[in-house]
Amino acid sequence: MRRDERTCKMCNEGQVEDVEIFLLHCNGLAEERKEMVRVMIEIMEGWQEMEGKDKVVCVVDKACEIGRVRREVERLYKNVWIELEARPQ
Ligand SMILES: [Zn+2]
Repeated sequence: MRRDERTCKMCNEGQVEDVEIFLLHCNGLAEERKEMVRVMIEIMEGWQEMEGKDKVVCVVDKACEIGRVRREVERLYKNVWIELEARPQ
């Protein structure tokens, strides 16, 4: 399947699934994302106003340095994997 054909199945909004969608936008992960967003705003001034790609870079960057961020990213991705595993092959 081509990359641009893989639309997100967790929200059915027709968005192409990629790291940015999962990390920042998908409504199917809104609950799981809350704490990560809260922590990012707390530790990094101006994060919320950044462009999506820059936000992602900062989250990954902080996840390497700070355990709290890493745990939240892991929590988010755990839900992504559960969803992907459940799909018919
Ligand atoms: Zn989605």
